Amino acid sequence: MAESLQSDTHPARPADRCGPGMLLVVSGPSGVGKTTIVHRLLERFDGVFSVSATTRPRSAAEVDGVDYHFLDEPTFQRWIDEGRFLEHAQVFGRSWYGTPREPVDAQVAEGRLVLLDIDVQGATQVRAAMPEAFGIFILPPDEDTLLARLRARGREDEATIERRFAEARREMETARTCGAYDAFVVNDDLDRTVEEVAALVGKRREREE
Ligand code: ADP
Ligand code: 5GP
Repeated sequence: MAESLQSDTHPARPADRCGPGMLLVVSGPSGVGKTTIVHRLLERFDGVFSVSATTRPRSAAEVDGVDYHFLDEPTFQRWIDEGRFLEHAQVFGRSWYGTPREPVDAQVAEGRLVLLDIDVQGATQVRAAMPEAFGIFILPPDEDTLLARLRARGREDEATIERRFAEARREMETARTCGAYDAFVVNDDLDRTVEEVAALVGKRREREE
C-alpha cells in the first residue's frame, strides 16, 4: 500500500533517493522481458512497482496485492465508478486491468521512481492524463526470439502462446503510431538493455531537476 502523503506542499526527498519523482511506463509484447527489466530497474533506482488491479484469474505463482490486486468484475467496475484508476483497459479483449491512481500520485510526490507495466491502451491514457510521464516500449530482437521467450515463461499452453504471439505483432504496430512512447528499446542482451533504459531514465531525471 502507498505510504501516506506529506502535508507539506514541498515534500522532503530522503537522501537515498536521487532526483525528482517520475512515472515510468514500460510496455511491450508478452514475453519480451518487461517483468525482468522492471525488476532490475526497481533495484537500481530504489523504485516502486505500481501494483495493478485485474479481473484475470491469479496463477499459482502470483500473490494477491504483490503481483496484482485480483478483483471480481463488480468490484473492478466499482473502482472505475469511484474514479480510482489513473487508466484502465480491457487487455486482449478479455480481462480488465487498471492502475490505481492514489499510490502513484503519493509515491511520485515523495520523489520516487514509479514503474508501470501496462499495455498500449493504458500508456495512451497515461500520456493524456500525465504528459510528463516517460514511456518506454520494449521490442524483441526478432519474432522467433519473442516466441521462444513466451515459451520460456512456462505460464501458458501452446494455444495461448500462439494467440499472445499474434497479439504481440498487433501491439508492436500500434505502439509505433500511438504517440505514448518516448523511446523504443530492443531487449537483446539483458544487461545491455537495462543499461540503455537506465541511461534514458537518468537523462530524463537530470532534465527534470
Ligand atoms: P514479460 O514480462 O514481458 O512477459 P518476462 O520478463 O517474463 O517477460 O520474460 C520472458 C522470458 O524471457 C523469461 O523467461 C525471461 O527470463 C526471459 N528473458 C527476458 N529478457 C531476456 C533476454 N534479454 N535474453 C534472454 N531471455 C530473456
Ligand atoms: P499479464 O496478464 O500477462 O500479467 O499481463 C497482460 C498485459 O496486461 C501486459 O501487456 C501488461 O502490460 C498489461 N497490464 C498489466 N497491468 C495493467 C494495467 O494496470 N493497465 C493496463 N492498461 N494494462 C496492464
